[in-house]
Amino acid sequence: QTGGIEVVCGPMFSGKTEELIRRVTRAQIARQKVQIFKPVIDDRYHKTNVVSHSSRHVEAEPVKDAVEILQKVYDSTRIVAIDEVQFFDNTIIKVVSKLARRGIRVICAGLDQDFKSKAFGPMPELLCIADDVMKIQAICTVCGAPASKTYRLPSENKKTVLVGEADLYEARCRAHYDYLDEDQ
Ligand code: ADP
Ligand code: MG
Repeated sequence: QTGGIEVVCGPMFSGKTEELIRRVTRAQIARQKVQIFKPVIDDRYHKTNVVSHSSRHVEAEPVKDAVEILQKVYDSTRIVAIDEVQFFDNTIIKVVSKLARRGIRVICAGLDQDFKSKAFGPMPELLCIADDVMKIQAICTVCGAPASKTYRLPSENKKTVLVGEADLYEARCRAHYDYLDEDQ
């Protein structure tokens, strides 16, 4: 098997995790050994599962950083799937490159932009080195149009990484996304 890097990106609720689960399920039907990882920062719903907003799930191994993925991948593994990949630092670039060079199919899913419309963590470089990129849209909660933005509902917490759900974030189209920043 030739290794490669696939990236699935888009805003929250766009179906990134569903798409990752779809690809993983098909690989499992083909009897290929799959390992799924996610950063420990994503602890919503379940500690060791990758769960979509529509409640589909597959078992995942939580890791504290990208290097831990390298340590945990078995020789027999053909496919490595990583969800919420935007939460890793840039070490993830070297890690996925190394895995792909070893002949592994690497499937990454993550947010391309944060709620301020800024590139999220290692995503720019990851998208550059990817062999295959899928960018998907959600549905705007205001008007029903395709949505590429993640809008954070007004709250006290100003940190960029604020893990939360529908109570904190909404998918919005450009017209209904109104984060005001001097830079844009
Ligand atoms: P992501 O991983 O990109 O955040 P998920 O795969 O977890 O997305 O969830 C996608 C599912 O979320 C959809 O299939 C749908 O059931 C549900 N959903 C809830 N709100 C929305 C929305 N605004 N737009 C699209 N899907 C939504
Ligand atoms: Mg997801």
